[in-house]
Amino acid sequence: MEDVIIIGAGLSGLSTAYQLKKAGINFKILEAQSRLGGRIETIYGKQYTPMEMGATWFGKEHLNLIQLLSELNIGYFEQHTEGISLFETMSFEPPQQYFVPANSHSAYRIKGGTFSIIDALYQRIGKENIILNAEVNGIIEEDNTIKIIDSTGNIYFSKHLIIALPPKVAIHTIDFTPNMPEGINQIMEQTQTWMSGSVKFSVEYKKAFWKDNGFSGSIFSQSGLATEIYDHSNYENTKFSLKGFLNGSAYHYTQVERKEKVIAQLKQYFGDEAETVESYNDKIWDSKYIQPKEDIFLPPHFNNGHAVYEDSYMNGNLFFTGTETSNTFSGYMEGAIIASNLVAKRIAKKININ
Ligand SMILES: Cc1cc2nc3c(=O)[nH]c(=O)nc-3n(C[C@H](O)[C@H](O)[C@H](O)COP(=O)(O)OP(=O)(O)OC[C@H]3O[C@@H](n4cnc5c(N)ncnc54)[C@H](O)[C@@H]3O)c2cc1C
Repeated sequence: MEDVIIIGAGLSGLSTAYQLKKAGINFKILEAQSRLGGRIETIYGKQYTPMEMGATWFGKEHLNLIQLLSELNIGYFEQHTEGISLFETMSFEPPQQYFVPANSHSAYRIKGGTFSIIDALYQRIGKENIILNAEVNGIIEEDNTIKIIDSTGNIYFSKHLIIALPPKVAIHTIDFTPNMPEGINQIMEQTQTWMSGSVKFSVEYKKAFWKDNGFSGSIFSQSGLATEIYDHSNYENTKFSLKGFLNGSAYHYTQVERKEKVIAQLKQYFGDEAETVESYNDKIWDSKYIQPKEDIFLPPHFNNGHAVYEDSYMNGNLFFTGTETSNTFSGYMEGAIIASNLVAKRIAKKININ
């Protein structure tokens, strides 16, 4: 029997585990997928350029994230924005140009890629405490013990349970016995999962021809498939890519078609050099681990940080964390860390009192 089981090995689950480890509390993490990180996913291109399919930027006001980065010895750097940027309103008119000066301090990125933070947490938590390919779909509370069942029928027992999933995903994928109180079910069902359904792409190049020609790489388009594009060179400025978001119509195309459209769009801004691509990748964030199939539209951040996530359930043994449960910076990496620091403190207090 574990003291604590954490469901979900995204930033919230892993940073909660890291705090528990520091407090000397034993735990196990159950993760549905075969990889760690959840909405943090850095992929590497042909030239080993780190490219973000998920979380990328943070701001100076994200103090808890900055503190964790410093504790984990991970550096960060400013997003490159200097140069000519483009704003395209219509496909039949050339984009408007505007100049962004140096040091505009727009946003920051993590050196080596956002996954560096997941990897550093993993090293500290220990491989032996994480079970992959364990999709939890049943939680039963009996006699002050929580029984957790995964989709392959494995059963785990724990005194305390922390759900570190988007609440909407949790209520769709897990059967609770006894049922969660009706009001809570509804709030969970109606808690928007930040960035669910979004589509991110990256194109890797051998050189940053846009910067060589005075462009920043920042483009905002109201007419192309790629709606936002940014320079994604690495910190050392030795590996190069452009990266951004595709609009919702991307769902209707195959990946080959999306690639063709994105490259054609880049060629229109930067000329023939944009055609010589090292690698192209994109990701539609619509798997069941972020967005239930029968999804209903909810406004961004709807019910995020709702007071129900501050309570404990199942005889006071079940707790929630996850960025959507944070009442500040919910949806962002900062919210994930705030929520995790808080839940780890609550569990530590409860275990120490008992
Ligand atoms: C495209 C995109 C861009 C983003 N950009 C930014 C950004 O620039 N800046 C920023 O701050 N934030 C950004 N975010 C948000 C950021 O990624 C999240 O705030 C953060 O990663 C959330 O971490 P989490 O652990 O709370 O949730 P998640 O990362 O969603 O982790 C939940 C984990 O639970 C697992 N899981 C799900 N169901 C089960 C189950 N039944 N059993 C076991 N495990 C399960 C999932 O596989 C996942 O690993 C972005 C997100 C996306 C998708």
